[in-house]
Amino acid sequence: MPVPWRRGMPIPYPFYILVVCTIATLILFTQQPELATRVAASVTALSPLALINFGQVKQEFAPPNDLRPRRVAIVGAGASGSAAAFFLSRAAREAESRAGAPHGSLLDIVVYERADYIGGRTTVVYPHGNTSLRPVELGASIFVDANLNLVKAAKLFGLEIVDPEFGGTGVAIWDGTEFLFMTSAEKGRWSGWWDSLAVLRRYGALSPMRQRRAVGALLKKFAHLYDARWLANRGSVANVDEFAESAGLGKVLTSRTGEDWARNVVKANALWVDEIMEASTRVNYCADLNQIHALGAAVSHASGGASAISGGNFRLFEAMLKHSGAEVRLQTEVDAIEPLDRGFRVTSNHSHLSDDYDEIFFAAPWHTSPVSKTLSSHFTQPIPKQQYVRLHVTMLATNAPHADPLYFFRGPGEAVPGTILTTGSTARAHPGAARPEFQSISYHGETYDGSGEWIVKIFSKAELSNDLLADIFGDNPTWVYRKVWDSYPVLHPTASFPPMQPMQGFHYLASLEPWVSTMETQTLSAREAVARSVQRWWNLGLGECRDADQSWDMTCGK
Ligand SMILES: Cc1cc2nc3c(=O)[nH]c(=O)nc-3n(C[C@H](O)[C@H](O)[C@H](O)COP(=O)(O)OP(=O)(O)OC[C@H]3O[C@@H](n4cnc5c(N)ncnc54)[C@H](O)[C@@H]3O)c2cc1C
Repeated sequence: MPVPWRRGMPIPYPFYILVVCTIATLILFTQQPELATRVAASVTALSPLALINFGQVKQEFAPPNDLRPRRVAIVGAGASGSAAAFFLSRAAREAESRAGAPHGSLLDIVVYERADYIGGRTTVVYPHGNTSLRPVELGASIFVDANLNLVKAAKLFGLEIVDPEFGGTGVAIWDGTEFLFMTSAEKGRWSGWWDSLAVLRRYGALSPMRQRRAVGALLKKFAHLYDARWLANRGSVANVDEFAESAGLGKVLTSRTGEDWARNVVKANALWVDEIMEASTRVNYCADLNQIHALGAAVSHASGGASAISGGNFRLFEAMLKHSGAEVRLQTEVDAIEPLDRGFRVTSNHSHLSDDYDEIFFAAPWHTSPVSKTLSSHFTQPIPKQQYVRLHVTMLATNAPHADPLYFFRGPGEAVPGTILTTGSTARAHPGAARPEFQSISYHGETYDGSGEWIVKIFSKAELSNDLLADIFGDNPTWVYRKVWDSYPVLHPTASFPPMQPMQGFHYLASLEPWVSTMETQTLSAREAVARSVQRWWNLGLGECRDADQSWDMTCGK
């Protein structure tokens, strides 16, 4: 007969096993929800509970309720237009499979692009125009670990993810008069330690930690947007407000300034706010910290695992379009879109021929796109005029391995790091003090190894003359390429956003840009628009995982 356990007796072996298993299960479920779901699914599959839908691993899906073939037009082949084609085609394949309909029978996609390339604001330039040299990003240059659509797409298409090449040549913060902070310009054995010490000495330990914690908390919320179960519960959204608030990234962040957030929520000290945090918003969104909303500021600081695609980020969008099987009409500008009794008629400059479509995915900023605005009178919700930042990007090649110390009021032999960020805080505090003439300067390695010629990218709000460039580098550049972008919205604090669907069947993908403008968030905007349509057409929901690793919206699997 078993003897009851009493204090002082050895703890029974099965009890140890029970405790260990419970702890292991708890860790598994909190750290690896997806793994836990899979384990749970396979266990229940062997039991009488097999008919239960366990989390995201659904056994039964609603079949498509309408198998009429559809035709959509996508205007713009940048991040959002390409992602719309990608998600639409994946959803169509899923619906066809559920309905037992032939492959390609449900949807026909046409993409109009006025430029002669795919990628829009994601594009590269070749030094000296020589395509045998390594290309450099002219627009969107980095994405981060948290950008799961881009990361997963890179994996799906077998594209190589690389370091975005800021070089190991140090960072300085320039206020127009002096360098306020500087790391070592060259990486040596002890430079990492010295640099950490220098950060500690100037800024203390708390501010960097607090910033990391605050940004980490926001990234956790952002991660909901990829969580199949969370999305399946939330369903598709009708407007940006709903999208942002559902994730806890709404007005609480967009209607206050980055500066207010940095001082009162992050509780970072003044030097850290004025120098480090402001330098990030100036290089990422060309905005001082007191001019940008808190979400834009936080995104500027969420640089964990910064990456790029070897050969150019645009390759992601080329691959998405190819994968979608869409018909892509390059150098074809949409002139006009008119509503029909059912659907829309699209006219392009190419041949002035028109085509009719069921729905339109408008994947470019409305007011800067040359499409006739007569459609606006049919909008049930108007698209307010959105101001975009006019950003001058100057790419150049130079034989100078770093900027000229004399331009920065330093001695001839003194080091200047390869990345120079800026702050406007000194000029704000002392009216009349010089403002930096640029937002950032960054060295991006040699044109080719051992060439002794370096590629440099400069962001500025005004054009930089040849004389100024010669001043900054102490010599004339060997090559200069200038591009002016309407780069991203001026991210002033705001509580209202453009409509995601200004009229039934017309999806406006740039509506998310005043919330935050990145390649990744534009793929999310596309996914939301696609979710609205495919729910209506084919009963397809977000986060519906087949075999636990496949869903049209890429929310399942790694
Ligand atoms: C210099 C710069 C740096 C940036 N840095 C980053 C970064 O590091 N990381 C990041 O994630 N984001 C960055 N961004 C922001 C990012 O580029 C954008 O958020 C994103 O690329 C926008 O994608 P989109 O498809 O919505 O628009 P776009 O890329 O602008 O695409 C719209 C397309 O529509 C086409 N088009 C417009 N009108 C018509 C018409 N009537 N007919 C046919 N075609 C039309 C245009 O030619 C264009 O190709 C940067 C942007 C710039 C400019």
